[in-house]
Amino acid sequence: FNTERFGQHILKNPQIAQDIVDKANLRPTDKVLEVGPGTGNLTVRILEKAKQCTAIEMDPRMAAELTKRVQGTPEQRKLEVMIGDFAKAELPYFDVCISNTPYQISSVIVFRLLSHRPLFRTAILMFQREFAQRLVARPGTALWSRLSANVQLYAKVDHIRQVDRNNFRPPPQVDSSVVRIVPLDPPPPVRFEEFDGMTRILFSRRNKTVRSSFFNAKGVVEMLEKNYKTWCSETDTIVPDGLDMKKIIDEIFEETAYGEERAAKMDINDLLKLLTAFHDRGIHFS
Ligand code: SAM
Repeated sequence: FNTERFGQHILKNPQIAQDIVDKANLRPTDKVLEVGPGTGNLTVRILEKAKQCTAIEMDPRMAAELTKRVQGTPEQRKLEVMIGDFAKAELPYFDVCISNTPYQISSVIVFRLLSHRPLFRTAILMFQREFAQRLVARPGTALWSRLSANVQLYAKVDHIRQVDRNNFRPPPQVDSSVVRIVPLDPPPPVRFEEFDGMTRILFSRRNKTVRSSFFNAKGVVEMLEKNYKTWCSETDTIVPDGLDMKKIIDEIFEETAYGEERAAKMDINDLLKLLTAFHDRGIHFS
């Protein structure tokens, strides 16, 4: 096990550890999921406030240290330590997720949490500052990206506080930020693969027009035509003679007036409207 590979930068500042846990507003009835507890600096504070905590830790040595830390305390019975990779672990029910996240799996954590059911109430997560800034970025700003749109489709995300690198041992290469993620409940009735398939196309050239993102990128029209034919066969729809996918897409751009817009400026509502216009024509992105 190696420090860099597992992103083992332990949070040494007790005030910040307390502040992170406080920001979760834990209730005495809450079940908490902690990812990457390390030596347990957040865990012991979680256990003071919550009913139960499941901590998933990949490094068995860290897991052993955490288990030892709570042994013989009244909180011991509230803690379950799972040794394993968060990306593959079977997740328990949880109300709140708290994590000083291993940076290698930032995206995995966000999207795995958001696709988990039943929905959690809130997540307080530490990320590299730039990743955090992209999570909270608003349309029309420099960091508004595919990540921002994909996450904000399902959740309200807020920047909570900055944590400079010198609060960790050993200090990482970059500064961090803590964000709060609150899932929209109910979630919008959109399959993630569909929304993500469209944002992948749009944000590969975020400052170009939507029309040029679709028509000047290789293979996009062909992919949509193939998906359309699959959809036709699944729904017993007859593929029209002389099908002209480019023309249909152009009509969608005309009707919605999104052809001349740019992803850099489109908000979630715009993106959803455009996606719905494609779906209304039986055109899918996945
Ligand atoms: N939460 C502790 C703290 O704030 O001091 C430790 C933070 S350290 C940045 C990240 C921890 O996550 C390490 O203990 C590391 O072993 C663990 N880890 C790394 N990848 C993991 C994964 N895929 N699943 C679960 N734990 C992981």
